[in-house]
Amino acid sequence: MMLYDNHGRIINYLRIAVTDRCNLRCQYCMPEEGIDYVNRSHLLTYEEIERIVTLFASLGINKIRITGGEPFLRKGLMECIDRINQIEGIDSIHITTNGTLTKDLIPRFEEIGIKSVNLSLDSLDAERFKMITRRDDLDKVMESLTLLVEHDIKTKINMVVMNQKNIEDILPMIELTKYLPISVRFLEEMPFNGSGIHDQMALWSHKDILDFIKKKHTGALQLESEPNSTSVNYKIPGYDGSFGIIASYSRSFCGTCNRLRLTPTGLMKTCLYDAGIFNIKDMMRAGANDDELKTALLSAVGSRAKDGREAEQRRADDLISESMATIGG
Ligand code: SAM
Ligand code: SF4
Repeated sequence: MMLYDNHGRIINYLRIAVTDRCNLRCQYCMPEEGIDYVNRSHLLTYEEIERIVTLFASLGINKIRITGGEPFLRKGLMECIDRINQIEGIDSIHITTNGTLTKDLIPRFEEIGIKSVNLSLDSLDAERFKMITRRDDLDKVMESLTLLVEHDIKTKINMVVMNQKNIEDILPMIELTKYLPISVRFLEEMPFNGSGIHDQMALWSHKDILDFIKKKHTGALQLESEPNSTSVNYKIPGYDGSFGIIASYSRSFCGTCNRLRLTPTGLMKTCLYDAGIFNIKDMMRAGANDDELKTALLSAVGSRAKDGREAEQRRADDLISESMATIGG
């Protein structure tokens, strides 16, 4: 079974944000005081998540990403991941984490067969890490990175590039790929910071990032992209790993987007930039059967915005002010 949207794109990827809570306060994601976390009773339960995945797998979803908030703040998550992994039709499970709580879980990731981990890391300098995340946890993240590599788990570092905050980390991040078989991906900052305030002028675009890197690494070679890749990837000859640039704000990759998003409260999004199409948890708690849930999903997928710009336009006056932690980055 294959699921197609109204633009002929195959949809096979579901990103699930299991919580909106976080132990860090990354400046681009949350204000210092945090966001108004939802009441736990409004979060999807693990049973609900597993029912949704089973249903979606029967329609053609075969790839799952677990994200948040910080997913590992939620108790019992590993057991839930283990059960999702056994659902018929699910081929791969991926995780996005800030890496501060994962140290002891990494052997388990390997046992379960987690396909890849995206580790968010915006600076290799303890002071800058603390300034950006408002927490002093760089050592924990580096420990997780070392263990992920030791356990042979495919690892990507996500670094949000911010003017006057971490430009000096771009080249050291690339040097990490000299001896480590990892990919470092540089992301444009998006307006999902929980406050609605965004300084457009400060944006370091994907072009700025590439120009900056190319000044030093004139011989960086562009790699062939995997289908549905959001990053344009490069390798420096002789380096073990690679680096990529994600135009998350410029949105140059929407044409091949294969993903759906489920927020912690059960809102289904067919685009990162939409306001949410329908709430599947509310339907389930009102007693909807599987056929009714499928119909709602097929209708959402069948009227998907062609790209992030159109999705944003459809929000009309509902301007983006949510945190990435409530959407699932
Ligand atoms: N807490 C986990 C983490 O940080 O990896 C998972 C959730 S976090 C919302 C997922 C990703 O979204 C992170 O890589 C983070 O850097 C990215 N992100 C959050 N807010 C962003 C923003 N305003 N612009 C670009 N990326 C953002
Ligand atoms: Fe937390 Fe991830 Fe948002 Fe940082 S980016 S505040 S780690 S949810």
